[in-house]
Amino acid sequence: MTSLLALTRPDLFQTQNFIAGAWVDSTAHYPVVNPATGALLAQVARAGATETQAAIAAAQQALPGWRRTLAKERGTVLRRWSALMLAHCDDLAALLTAEQGKPLAEARGEVAYAASFLEWFAEEGRRVYGEVVPPHKLGARVVVTKEPVGVVAAITPWNFPLAMVTRKVGAALAAGCSMVLKPSEETPLSAFALAVLGQEAGVPAGVFNVVSGDAPAIGDAVMQSDVVRKVSFTGSTRVGKLLMRQASDTLKRVSLELGGNAPFIVFDDADVDAAVVGAMASKFRNAGQTCVCVNRFFIQDGIYDRFMERFAVAVRALKVGEGTAPGSDIGPLINTTALQKVERHVQDAIALGANLIVGGESHALGGTFYQPTLLTNANVQMQLAQEETFGPVAACFRFKTEDEVLALANDTPFGLSAYFYSRDLARVWDFAERLQVGMVGVNEGMISTEVAPFGGVKESGFGREGSSHGLDDYLSLKYMLVGGLRTGG
Ligand code: ADP
Repeated sequence: MTSLLALTRPDLFQTQNFIAGAWVDSTAHYPVVNPATGALLAQVARAGATETQAAIAAAQQALPGWRRTLAKERGTVLRRWSALMLAHCDDLAALLTAEQGKPLAEARGEVAYAASFLEWFAEEGRRVYGEVVPPHKLGARVVVTKEPVGVVAAITPWNFPLAMVTRKVGAALAAGCSMVLKPSEETPLSAFALAVLGQEAGVPAGVFNVVSGDAPAIGDAVMQSDVVRKVSFTGSTRVGKLLMRQASDTLKRVSLELGGNAPFIVFDDADVDAAVVGAMASKFRNAGQTCVCVNRFFIQDGIYDRFMERFAVAVRALKVGEGTAPGSDIGPLINTTALQKVERHVQDAIALGANLIVGGESHALGGTFYQPTLLTNANVQMQLAQEETFGPVAACFRFKTEDEVLALANDTPFGLSAYFYSRDLARVWDFAERLQVGMVGVNEGMISTEVAPFGGVKESGFGREGSSHGLDDYLSLKYMLVGGLRTGG
């Protein structure tokens, strides 16, 4: 099948599974559609258990050769891969927007962000240092080394079809692991394009495999395999918990990056203009479909009116449209289930006393487009206070004291990210320490970067991605006690 998109590199459009360095068809196929138009983009080979087992076998076969290469050589491949992504940024962004819906400018930003993980781990991979420990007895030496965990599986979501993949595959390959990736069945085209560029960069056959299709069947095959020693998952808490249960049969290691319920707190002493900029970026990026998106805004009494007035102006100015339309800020939601959840949350909030300030309905463009929405007078009984809305809806609460807002912010099973705006240095440190989350943005609304550890606490999961810590998830410690030596000295 050829692409309807005008790509500079038409071969980046692939619709089959990538196993052992080859494109492999399946007996069944499924449609991938453009969420902005409903138009068919591709009929994609639908992988199940058979394809997954083949991909695992390919990764197993490729593992010894890959883990034997020098870290420097693996780094060279990863750096080339990163450079190829940047060189083909427009094509990758076009594919990404077509299957995911986000505005093209955001898609280009994601390409650069995704490429940064490959570059980062190309460098970090050379610093997998061990330890020489003072021994516990004479005539012995104690040495600790780090080894790749082996064949790993990655299961990724549709909201960042490239970046969620590269921050796993960059770390895994730098560590010397081989990988089977299952991208979201909604957005496999970006992952396939990534595989094309990986092969071109010199990733050997079998080191990186991609299977997309029947999620539970692929998931079961991965989780039942005793070859796969680790699974790294980004997605819903529901599926994360299922995978963790399944992992117990083979005692696989798991890293889970799950949902959040991020608070965004504006204290009386905040820079109000900076707070509005941060609020817009952290709420409305990707139409509110990121796991670090703000889900609850808490505004202190003394700044409430000034903040809300400016926030409402900014929300009203957002332009809704297809990702390819010039100037679009907000694209469609990924599918009708997502739209229904947003509608349910807004209706429930209004029924429980929220005031609708902006939006509140499906957008005139139809499909899964929803109006950027601003609600005030939110309270903890509302569904949107308890679950991630994952849409362009800002729900605002008013608070009086720091203790009150801390209790509200932490009153959730989730603990991924939190944001707050304050210029009181004493408060900044203390308050950040008392937030039960893995990541805090202080006077910043955008916290994602390859240089810092991304991950959560509580039911937002565990494991860290990016940063020097991102490699740890793909490494095992081995300790060697060498006895019978001379004592030296
Ligand atoms: P969302 O609700 O945001 O789509 P999901 O957790 O359903 O989040 O999806 C994240 C990833 O998990 C996707 O790649 C999806 O295909 C995958 N997935 C869904 N169900 C299963 C399952 N039973 N086993 C393995 N992976 C699954």
